[in-house]
Amino acid sequence: MHKLTRATLALNGLGRCFVAEKHLSAIKITSSRGLVCAEPDHDPGKNEVYDVIISGGGMVGSAMACSLGMEPNLEGKKILLLEAGNKKVIDKVPDTYSTRVSSISPGSAALLSGIGAWENITKMRCKPYKRMQVWDACSDALITFDKEDLQNEMAYIVENDIVVAALTKQLDSLSDNVQVKYRSKVVKYAWPVPQQTADSIPWVKVTLASGETVQTKLLIGADGPNSMVRQALGIPTVKWNYDQSAVVAVLHLSEPTENNVAWQRFLPTGPIAMLPLSDTESSLVWSTSHRLAEELLDLDEESFVDAINSAFWSNENQSELIETAGSLFRSALSAIMPSAGSPRQLPPSVAGIGPKSRVMFPLGIGHASEYIRHRVALIGDAAHRVHPLAGQGANLGFGDVACLTQLLSQAAFDGKDLGAMQHLLGYETERQRHNLPMMAAIDLMKHLYSTNAAPLVLLRTFGVQATNMLPALKEQIVAFASK
Ligand SMILES: Cc1cc2nc3c(=O)[nH]c(=O)nc-3n(C[C@H](O)[C@H](O)[C@H](O)COP(=O)(O)OP(=O)(O)OC[C@H]3O[C@@H](n4cnc5c(N)ncnc54)[C@H](O)[C@@H]3O)c2cc1C
Repeated sequence: MHKLTRATLALNGLGRCFVAEKHLSAIKITSSRGLVCAEPDHDPGKNEVYDVIISGGGMVGSAMACSLGMEPNLEGKKILLLEAGNKKVIDKVPDTYSTRVSSISPGSAALLSGIGAWENITKMRCKPYKRMQVWDACSDALITFDKEDLQNEMAYIVENDIVVAALTKQLDSLSDNVQVKYRSKVVKYAWPVPQQTADSIPWVKVTLASGETVQTKLLIGADGPNSMVRQALGIPTVKWNYDQSAVVAVLHLSEPTENNVAWQRFLPTGPIAMLPLSDTESSLVWSTSHRLAEELLDLDEESFVDAINSAFWSNENQSELIETAGSLFRSALSAIMPSAGSPRQLPPSVAGIGPKSRVMFPLGIGHASEYIRHRVALIGDAAHRVHPLAGQGANLGFGDVACLTQLLSQAAFDGKDLGAMQHLLGYETERQRHNLPMMAAIDLMKHLYSTNAAPLVLLRTFGVQATNMLPALKEQIVAFASK
C-alpha cells in the first residue's frame, strides 16, 4: 500500500548500522539488530517541503494565508498556515461584544473583501463610522475628519475575533489550496544560507512543539510583536515600551444614538477613545499611565463610568492663558481661511460597562530594521508595532499582506523562486516607505500630547486649529490613513 524507500542513514562509532524506512506516512528507524529506536507515527508531514509557510494565524497571518490561497498565479503551490492557538470559529455571534476591536480602514476592508472575508464580517457584526473627532483636554483645539462630507464611511469597528473567524471560514473554503494546522506552536527554526555548502540546508526548517518538522522555500513570519521568527534571525529591532497601558472595555451608552462618530480626546496622561459598536454600545480604548490603568481596573463599575465621563467632559486641564491664545488664533485664522473648520460635537455619555469587559495591555513601539532575509519575510506586528492612538496596527499589517501577495504573484507568474531576495526586497522597500512615516507620526503625536507644558500645548493648539481649517490637508491625512 505504501511506497517504501530505504536509506542507510549513518554508521555510528559502535559500528551499528541505522536504517530509515520512509513510508509516506511515517518514518521508522531500526538498528541493524532490528530494534525499533523511534517511531513517530503521529507525524504524517515530517519534513514535507512547502512553497510557503506562514507562522502565526492572527488577523494578519490568516489574511496572508487567504490572500495567497486565492491568488490564481499561486495555484498548485503548497501553502501552510501554522497557528499556536485553537481554531477560532463563530457559529452564532454572541450577544455581548468582545473587548478587543480594531478600526479597519477602507483599504483594509477592500483587501478583506478581495479575499472573500469582508462578506463574512458584515454578516457577523461590524459598525461603520463616518466621522472622527479628536480634541485636546488642555485647550479648545479640535479636529474632525470625514470623507466627502459624510457621504462615505471613514472606517469600520470590528471585533478582532470576528475578523479572525471570518478569515478562518474563508480558509476552510480554500482547503485545497491552503493547509492549516492549529495548536501548532513553532519551537525552532533552522535557516538556509544563500550560497549552498555541503552541510547547509536548502530550505527553512520549522520544528513544531509536537516534534514534527516541515520545510519551506519561503517562511512568512506573522507571529506578532514578540516574533520568534524575527528573534531567531537576530534581526535588529528598534523598540521601547511606552510609559502607558491601554484599558479596554465595552461601554453601554446612556441613550441610543446614531453612533457614527469615533471620539478621541487627548488627556495629559494619554488619549481616551470611544469607538462605535452599535446604537447603544461603544468600545473604550483608554491609554494612560500604568498606575492609573491599574487603578481604573480596580474601580467599582460606577466609579469607572464616572471616570470615563469625566475624562471626556471635564475641563480641569484647561488654563485661561491657553484658552485666550487659542481663541485669538482661531479668530485670526477665520479671517484668512476659506473654511470655518468643522463644528464641535459632544460625545455620548456612558451609563455602564459590559460584564467582565475591563482588560489592560502595556503599550510599546517596535520596528524591525529588516523585514526580509533569505527565504524569510516579516509581516504585521512581527515587523512593526505601534501605539493604538491612530488605530493603525492591524491596518499596516493588512497593507503588508496586499503588497507581499502582489510581489509573490508576479514572481510565480515569472517562474521565479518565491524565497529569492530579489522580489522580497521590493516588498521591504515598499512597505518601509509606507510604515516608517506612519510610525514616526504616531510616535510624535504620542509625545506631543503627553504633556501639559504651556509652550507645547500652544504649539499643538495652533497646529490642530490650522489643520482643521485646511480641508485639502485633512483629505490627504485621511487618504494616507485609509490605505
Ligand atoms: C488596545 C489596542 C487597540 C488596538 N486598536 C487597533 C485599531 O483600532 N486598528 C488597528 O488597525 N490596530 C489596532 N491595534 C493593533 C492590532 O491589534 C495589532 O496590530 C494586530 O492584532 C496585529 O496582528 P498580527 O496578526 O500581526 O499579530 P498577533 O495578533 O499578535 O497574532 C500573532 C499570532 O501568531 C501566533 N503565534 C505566535 N507565536 C507563534 C509560534 N511560535 N508558533 C505558531 N504561532 C504563533 C499567535 O498565537 C497569534 O495568533 C490595537 C492594539 C491594541 C493593543
